[in-house]
Amino acid sequence: MNMFTRKTKVWILVELIFAAGVWLLILLTPEQAEEREQTAAPEEDNRLPAPAVVPVPEASPAPYGLVNIRHIHPAVCIDLKYASTDNFTGKTLYDNWDACLQKDVAEMLSAAGSYLRTVRPDLRLLIYDAARPLSVQRRMWEHVRDTPYSRYVAHPERTGLHNYGAAVDLTLSDSLQTPLDMGTDFDYFGEAAGINREDELVARGILTARQAANRQLLRKVMLHAGFRTISGEWWHFNACTLSEAKERYPLIK
Ligand SMILES: [Zn+2]
Repeated sequence: MNMFTRKTKVWILVELIFAAGVWLLILLTPEQAEEREQTAAPEEDNRLPAPAVVPVPEASPAPYGLVNIRHIHPAVCIDLKYASTDNFTGKTLYDNWDACLQKDVAEMLSAAGSYLRTVRPDLRLLIYDAARPLSVQRRMWEHVRDTPYSRYVAHPERTGLHNYGAAVDLTLSDSLQTPLDMGTDFDYFGEAAGINREDELVARGILTARQAANRQLLRKVMLHAGFRTISGEWWHFNACTLSEAKERYPLIK
């Protein structure tokens, strides 16, 4: 026995479709959708753990096997100093050049971003420079040659890790990209930028304890991801030695 006639069945089906349509309309009201997005975003940002390593985009317009690091990780942001006049030369040195690194170095940076998320989710890694063509290195050298500052810029003949896409200059910032106080500016030429005697610099009143602690946190995050420091610049980190870089990567001309 069938409790419903064919006509009744069709009518029930029509009513169900209508009810579903009404609910769909309610759910998709633009204001409500926006509201949901606004409330969901911070949760996503603060509570979901970031993956250990975010995949680096495969395709890259950059030559030499480099990958663009602009969107590599939510905790990594970019303020490329040589793409503006806000650098020690006062000139824009990168006209058609973006923040990029060798792929495996980019993955190390991404891992540093993930680690920063676990220790200080409120902070970011703010990139000042990454891969640097040798042609730009020559212009930097010309700016400091025959000055007391020449020892702070790698001679273009010798090449440096930046010229292989295997070094990065960076600081820590808040979520609005305001840099933390590290005691000196990026590319400060002087002993206060050095990392080996920070206790002494604090004792002499050249650095504050807070500035030294900020630098230590940056180093902790970068060393955890496998980067190495250099003594003279708190902002500079190498992914490997110069001879390893020469073996592994092409020179960026
Ligand atoms: Zn550097």
